[in-house]
Amino acid sequence: MPVTHPLDENDPLAAKKTAFSLPEGVIYLDGNSLGVLPAHVPDRMQQVIKKEWGESLIRGWNDHDWIDLPQRVGDKIARLIGAQPGTVIAADSTSINVFKVLAAALALRPERKVILSDNGNFPTDLYVASGLKDLLDQGHELRIVAPEEVEAAIGDDLAVLMLTEVDYKTGRKHDMKALTAKAHGAGALAIWDLAHSAGALPVDLAGAKADFAVGCGYKYLNGGPGAPAFLYVGPEHQDNVRPPLTGWMGHEAPFAFDLDYRPDTGIGRMRVGTPPVLSLSALDAALDIFDDVDMTVLRRKSVSLCELFLSEVEARCPELVLASPRDPERRGSQISFRFDNGYALMQALIAHGVIGDFRAPDTVRFGFTPLYLSHADVVRAVDILETILTGRLWDRNEFKTKQKVT
Ligand SMILES: *Cc1c(COP(=O)(O)O)cnc(C)c1O
Repeated sequence: MPVTHPLDENDPLAAKKTAFSLPEGVIYLDGNSLGVLPAHVPDRMQQVIKKEWGESLIRGWNDHDWIDLPQRVGDKIARLIGAQPGTVIAADSTSINVFKVLAAALALRPERKVILSDNGNFPTDLYVASGLKDLLDQGHELRIVAPEEVEAAIGDDLAVLMLTEVDYKTGRKHDMKALTAKAHGAGALAIWDLAHSAGALPVDLAGAKADFAVGCGYKYLNGGPGAPAFLYVGPEHQDNVRPPLTGWMGHEAPFAFDLDYRPDTGIGRMRVGTPPVLSLSALDAALDIFDDVDMTVLRRKSVSLCELFLSEVEARCPELVLASPRDPERRGSQISFRFDNGYALMQALIAHGVIGDFRAPDTVRFGFTPLYLSHADVVRAVDILETILTGRLWDRNEFKTKQKVT
């Protein structure tokens, strides 16, 4: 087994691995599902809990500026997704943020009734859209087409185009700029879910003129299990969106305790309730890792890792059927394959120290995170995959019993 790989020489991101606390002997190909613990986060949490909470108590809201954490963390994320400062907040979950931005977008297009999405979208986005449509009861239609049919389905009846840029299952990547322009040309608004984009590849929300965006804090941003999500509102909508969840933290003056709701100016109005200071602090600290990371450099390494994995698997594991686009320009930072016994295969891989995940009915998914993976890791992972497939090591009952979370 190679311990070094020529492609790892002169890797500008090689030193970043030490910024993470990875368990010994694990090759982690699941940073697209739950990012790895950044090594400095436990100390930061210790400080937030013992000092800030323990000693400052209620004074912490002012003394440690907990109250503005959603905007502060939002600004750190903004840099990674091509958004101007003051246009992003870290808050709530992605599902809740989908609800918030979709309701806000529909209210900006009251005369139109069609929401367009695709069947590669993550189910929660579609469930939320469907639930919101029922709740509004204003005759909206949720139109779901195949990903490659989205462009042709954009017409003059469209209120909102709501897509996930990178397909969670296959890694297929939409052309955000072109589709947003087409939606705008038809008089519609565009919402982008960046769950598998933020921290994985360069995103240019401002350049694409996206109207709204949401995304996850616990995937490539490494904020920890259930970390707060984020939400973007384009500058032109900041002062005219009507927040659908009118909580006191989105009020212009929460501590005036007025009985009437008045939205805050700017992105602050998309806040709802009291921010989760502990989990926001973990995400805040985790994001520091990106401070000196050039996203185009990260993307170059991501493509290189994915290309190596793909070519090694195709050469050595012919049983697996590629489920991702072959062209790296049309992919995010993951490679997926179909295999009839995909669940058992993934369980066997995990038992051998290669952690990826499984998406029903038959997809094994491998995420590539350039900040803590090397090309040598990729080759070692394929060595193990090949051993498991040729020896049918997955074909054991212990690997076939499905657990709650796959
Ligand atoms: C991971 C993911 C989510 C998760 O939403 P939560 O509310 O955090 O559970 C939503 N949308 C997409 C596209 C995702 O990939």
